[in-house]
Amino acid sequence: MDKRESMWDVYLRKGMSRRSFVKSCVALTSLMGLSTDHVSKVVEAAEKKPLPVVVWIHGHECTGCDESFIRSGAPLASDLVLSQIALEYDHLLSAASGEPFEAHLEETIKKYKGQYILCVEGAVCTKDNGVYCMSGGKPFIETLQHAAHNAAAVIAYGTCAVSGGIQAAKPNPTGSAGIAHFAGKTPVINVPGCPPIPEVMTGVVMHVALFGTVPPLDNEGRPKQFYGNRIHDTCYRRPFFDAGMFAERFDDAGAKAGWCLYKLGCRGPETYNSCGNLRWFQGMSYPIQSGAPCIGCSNAHFWEEDPMTTRMPEYGPLGNVDKIGAAMAVGTAAGVAVHGAMSVIQKQKREAEEHEKE
Ligand code: SF4
Ligand code: SF4
Repeated sequence: MDKRESMWDVYLRKGMSRRSFVKSCVALTSLMGLSTDHVSKVVEAAEKKPLPVVVWIHGHECTGCDESFIRSGAPLASDLVLSQIALEYDHLLSAASGEPFEAHLEETIKKYKGQYILCVEGAVCTKDNGVYCMSGGKPFIETLQHAAHNAAAVIAYGTCAVSGGIQAAKPNPTGSAGIAHFAGKTPVINVPGCPPIPEVMTGVVMHVALFGTVPPLDNEGRPKQFYGNRIHDTCYRRPFFDAGMFAERFDDAGAKAGWCLYKLGCRGPETYNSCGNLRWFQGMSYPIQSGAPCIGCSNAHFWEEDPMTTRMPEYGPLGNVDKIGAAMAVGTAAGVAVHGAMSVIQKQKREAEEHEKE
């Protein structure tokens, strides 16, 4: 097998400075959710490890996840694609097409069997032998199984790849489903979101690339560093929730004053994602910051729940949000305790599920 360059080799070849290389490594370390203690390990891996071969395939979807990925600001998607991974095949980003392109996919799978990272966007169509989603002249389900069984790891990007997405909405005529069941014994990392946050996408692939391991996952196969908190836990409107101050309409005084959007359907209390801390467009904003409730786009079946601006059903055995608000009116401390207890119950339930799985 020919010798593949490391990230440092690429920087040298391009005449880029050691300083910019180290700066990239520091940025990658923080992006992967690691402490600064890990910078030297990241530098060492980036100096020595050959660039990871990545194959990126697209199933039944809208390509929104790739659109998100190319907007990554730290690292820039262009840096990632040109200097930090060896992207051998991508339905959207590759310039090549047609039969030679499909032949290259086959060569890559053979040459790097058991070594490459397979990124998958989109659901897999399972009805009628998968004919509703064709790729390179054959059903996508075949391409997926072949590429996944021979990969070192599979990253399922987006809610479609994780749990079927909008394509799987009832009555689901194409039999769309998440891809994990078709990966055989290859480990699958779920990165849900519609689409996922660009920096989360780059952070996950770089973790696998640099360390050659799957990052720590939760009970739904999601990287804990990006899906460890609910949107509600990091929401800057949270003090309004705790004080029982809710916008009732999108144009009322509460909405204008930036009060909590729970009564307008916000799914933040049940949604695990990094929007509240990483935000979007290089930290510029995120839906709640622009006045829109979280629609829970990283949750399975979010598209089939109640209308997105309808208030969430009551959650937890301790009552609904009005009771919390009423409790707050009577005594702030008591209300905080009630809400705190609800959060603790949810957290304990989740940890118990994870523990059971381990
Ligand atoms: S319900 Fe939504 S808007 Fe309100 S605090 Fe939670 S995440 Fe923020
Ligand atoms: S705020 Fe909620 S709906 Fe919006 S992108 Fe984040 S997880 Fe998805």
